[in-house]
Amino acid sequence: MQYPLYDLHIHTNLSACSTDPGQTLETIVAFAAANHIPVVGVTNHVWDREIPGSSSWYAPQDFAHIQRIREQIPRDLHGVRLLIGAETEYAGGRIALTRAHRDALDYVLVPHSHIHMRGLVLPEACVTDRQVAQYLLDSFVSLVEKDFATAVAHPFCPVGRTPENVKAILDCITDDEFARCFSAARAHNAAIEINGSCMAGEWSTPALVAGYERLFSIARDCGVTFTLGSDAHAPKELEYIHLAAQLATRLAIPDDRFLRL
Ligand SMILES: [Zn+2]
Ligand SMILES: [Zn+2]
Repeated sequence: MQYPLYDLHIHTNLSACSTDPGQTLETIVAFAAANHIPVVGVTNHVWDREIPGSSSWYAPQDFAHIQRIREQIPRDLHGVRLLIGAETEYAGGRIALTRAHRDALDYVLVPHSHIHMRGLVLPEACVTDRQVAQYLLDSFVSLVEKDFATAVAHPFCPVGRTPENVKAILDCITDDEFARCFSAARAHNAAIEINGSCMAGEWSTPALVAGYERLFSIARDCGVTFTLGSDAHAPKELEYIHLAAQLATRLAIPDDRFLRL
C-alpha cells in the first residue's frame, strides 16, 4: 500500500493486559521510526469513573490512570508523531467513556467484540454461534449509531474464542448483514479497524483470514473509512501492523479511504 502506515491501536504497560515492562512509549516510537511508521496512537483500556457498571478488571483503569501516559512521553520522538487515544468499552448499550473525556483525547477506539467478558459485554443468554453473531451485528450497529467512536476496534473479531469458532461465527453472518453494518458505519462516520493481532500466530489460518477478507471487502464496497492497528501489548507484537497493512493491500483499499488524524 502507498498510504503511510499509521498504527492507531497500541497498548503500553499502563493497560492491565500488557504485562511487559518493555512496552513503553520509548519502545513504540523507536519501532515506528525504524519501520517508517510516521504516526502512532496509544490506546490503553479505559472505563471512566463517571460511567457505572465497571468490572473489577476495568475499575482501576480509569481516565486519570490512562492520562499518566502524558508524563511518559519521551523527549525524543525520533520524528514520529504520537497521538494519545484510548480503547474504551461498549457494554449493556453504554460506552464506558464520557464525551468530555473523549474530547480530551486525540481519538477513541470502541470495541463491540470483547465477548470474553461474559455478562458484562456478551449477555449470558447468547450461547450458540448464531446468537453470538447476532449480538455482534446488533452491537456494531447500535455502537456506530451513538456517533461516538472514531473507529470500531477489531470489528467482528470476537475475543476469547478459538480460530475455528471465530470462523464459524463469521460464517453465520451473511454478506447483506455485513453490508447493513458497514453502511451504518459510513453514515455515522465511524471508521473501522483492520487489526493485525486478529490475524497473528494461531489466528493466521487461511480459513479465518479468508473470513476477515470477506467482511473487509464488503466494508470497502460500502465506502467505509479504515484504520490500521497492531493492538500490540508487547514489543514483539508491534510487528502485527504489517499483517493489517498486508490485508489492506490484498483488498486494494484506496489510499484515500484511510483515516488521517
Ligand atoms: Zn480490544
Ligand atoms: Zn486493544
